[in-house]
Order: sequence, then structure tokens, then C-alpha cells
Amino acid sequence: MGIPVINQDNYYSNEIDKVYMSNSQYKSFLECEAATIAKINGEWQPPSSEALLFGQYVHAWLEGEQVFDEFKMNTPALFTQKGQLYKQYQLADLMIESIQNDDLCMFVLQGDKEVIITGKLFGVPWKGKLDVYNPAGGRFADLKTTRSLREKVWDQELGYCSFVEAYGYIGQMAIYAELERQMSKRNEWLEPLIVAISKEDPPDKAVINIDNSRMEVELEDIEKHMERIIQVKHGGEPPNRCGKCKYCRSTNQLNRIIHFSELIS
Ligand SMILES: [Zn+2]
Repeated sequence: MGIPVINQDNYYSNEIDKVYMSNSQYKSFLECEAATIAKINGEWQPPSSEALLFGQYVHAWLEGEQVFDEFKMNTPALFTQKGQLYKQYQLADLMIESIQNDDLCMFVLQGDKEVIITGKLFGVPWKGKLDVYNPAGGRFADLKTTRSLREKVWDQELGYCSFVEAYGYIGQMAIYAELERQMSKRNEWLEPLIVAISKEDPPDKAVINIDNSRMEVELEDIEKHMERIIQVKHGGEPPNRCGKCKYCRSTNQLNRIIHFSELIS
């Protein structure tokens, strides 16, 4: 059986997810193996969230006027009965305006949009999508929207850290840099940049880079986790339930009584 070819239409399909790892699938496995396997097998569909639609809105803008217009036309959930944009998407417009008015942001966002990359990492095929691909400029960029750029976020392993670390964006950039390097047969990684914009009024913004040594550490960390993930995904190892997520709560069958102290252990 050959590996299915990825295109823009099947990129997010289960057929592709069964074969390819991705940054989001990796993060999903770390959160809950059972939910991820159920998702890949098409047995469970995570409920679509408003935050997801928010991100899609801003990314549709990034792809250009035509895509943005089509996205708005095909997404009635954005509008009130009177045909006005809901408040949160008015905020998205404000964020977009803030990016548009900044020369450095607009410079970094120049390049091909939504470019699919694939490669092999830790013995399995991976896929990724570059928001902005500019190999001639020596870089690729990812557009991130987040609550606040500068607030400290709590992470179980790292303690208080930046949103970039807390949400696994260093790992994502490292994976993308490596996949792109493999595809282009270059020796060096392109410079990965994050164009970040906050959901505040007025929005905060920054263009962020990451040092290579930190990305290498992140890849080693991913490699450590991949052994278990591959066993679960391809080796028939039964997936662990996290016991807390939406999937686990919706499929939970009690088989014992717990002591109250276990609730927060
Ligand atoms: Zn779970």
C-alpha cells in the first residue's frame, strides 16, 4: 500500500491523519491518546470551537481578498440575524487592521500561503502547512492569534512561561523547519518567524524568532514521546484515557468508587 498524496482538499481528512503525523496530532496524543485514536478512526468528532473559527477567519484574510470574501460568504456563523459581524469577529477585523498598518508584519507575511510540506521524522511520515513560505527570503512564518502576548502562562512541565512555549509553538516551528529542509534538500533550516497578534483592544503585536538550539532541544523532546505514540498509533498498544477531556467524559463508564482526594490528584 502506497502513501496517499496530500492536497489542500484531503489535508485534514482521517485518511491522511491515519498515515501522517502532524504537529496538532502530536499535541493531541500528549493530551489524550484515546480521544486522538477515536478522532483518527472517525469514531468521534471534537466539537468545533469558536476559537477555531476565529483563527480560520484571520487565516482566510492572510490568503488574500478572494479567499477572505469566499470564507465570509460560506460561513453564516460569523453573522448575526441582521447580517452584522459578531463582536468577536469585529475584534478580528481590528487585529487584521493592526497587522496591515505595520510594515514589519506585512514584510514578514510576504510569500506563498498555506504551503503543504511533508517529510519523515522519527521513522514516520509527517505533514505540515506553512502559513507563509518565503525560501528566497530565507524564512517561513506562522500567524498566531492569542489572548495576550506577554502574560505568563502556567505549564505543568515548564512552570510559568510565554504563550509560545506553553502552546507548543517552538516544537511546531522546529518540525516545520525540519520538514521544509528535507523537502528542499537544503542543509540549513530556514528562519522560522511567528507573527503574533493579541485578542486585546487595541491588539498587541510582535514578530518573534526562535533560536536553533532551542528548536533542537524541542525535537529531542518530541522524539522521546514518539516511541509511545507510534506504539499506540501503529503497534496495537491500547490508548490511555486521560479521564478529563470531552471524549473521555462523554464515553466514561464507571467501574469503581474513588476517594475524594483522587479528584484533584
Ligand atoms: Zn481524554
